Amino acid sequence: MTAFLELLRRRSSFLLTGHENPDGDCVGAEVALYHLLRALGKTVHIVNPDPMAKAFDFLAEHTPFASARTSETLPEFEVAVLLDCCQLSRVGALGKRLLASGATIAVVDHHVGSDAGDGSVCYVDPTAAATGALVRRLYRELDVPLGAAAAEGVFLSLVSDTGWFRYSNADEEVFAMAGELVGAGVDASRVYDAIHRRNHPDSPAVLAETLKRYQMLHGGKLARVSIDKPLLERCLRADFDTDAVLEPLRSIEGVEVVALLKERFDGGVKCSLRARGDVDVQAIVARFGGGGHKKAAGATLAMTLNEAEAAITDAVGAALAGGA
Ligand code: 5GP
Ligand code: MN
Repeated sequence: MTAFLELLRRRSSFLLTGHENPDGDCVGAEVALYHLLRALGKTVHIVNPDPMAKAFDFLAEHTPFASARTSETLPEFEVAVLLDCCQLSRVGALGKRLLASGATIAVVDHHVGSDAGDGSVCYVDPTAAATGALVRRLYRELDVPLGAAAAEGVFLSLVSDTGWFRYSNADEEVFAMAGELVGAGVDASRVYDAIHRRNHPDSPAVLAETLKRYQMLHGGKLARVSIDKPLLERCLRADFDTDAVLEPLRSIEGVEVVALLKERFDGGVKCSLRARGDVDVQAIVARFGGGGHKKAAGATLAMTLNEAEAAITDAVGAALAGGA
């Protein structure tokens, strides 16, 4: 943290970014760091590889967001900060532009092994529940008061990565921070409604269609569901967040791992694993070049959907057999 704080103090212009299809932790942490840097008198821009999901568009009321897909040129910056990821390869085409810029690459992240990513200055703590929690700590360290917009960002980070405080990473720091954020004016139910209660009329039908396809494997310990391109097109048309299928599968008694496999339009398969119990899904996806946390991890596999189903099923089977 010391080296990262030093970087914030010394440099004057920053570009904040994160992984492709930025999730709530990523954009929430960006919002919080944006307002911290502004409070320090710095020039700061948020440019993500993809446009913001509709679920998070309420953030734009107080914080400007740009997407590299629609920005031909990047603003001037001395430091690029990657939030909630540590590799330029996860920042899509923007990653190459950041590398070519010659700017300092810094990382703020809570994933396993993020010290070994592309950052030359890294503030990484894999015990933190969310990247937004790390940014909250920076405010304290710099003695900058947390304003309403930043508080909402940190809150979004916390609820996104703890599943609204249900997962095992919802620790004392998370609950203490959440209480403090609500005290600072965050309206939790407004945030919930903004994210989860503005769905497309077709979303229940798409959810039903997706859930119909799940399979129970390895004696009921693995629940696996695949989304092929035609179904993915329907999901996109209904602006459907496919993560919604994970929880119903994880709720089945005896399930230890949930796997969601999505065919990608540009080739390959995106795989998301979630664990209940002691299986380390980060270790499973690491074999395929992915990463994440012990209980939530992902990877992109250069395979067909059928091949990916077999490879993931085998790898999960081996982990279950190894008593991992
Ligand atoms: P999700 O399954 O929701 O995409 O991701 C679960 C967790 O694993 C998140 O913390 C996410 O950042 C991480 N993750 C997902 N895909 C990848 C990947 O391809 N590489 C790495 N290093 N981490 C990933
Ligand atoms: Mn995160």
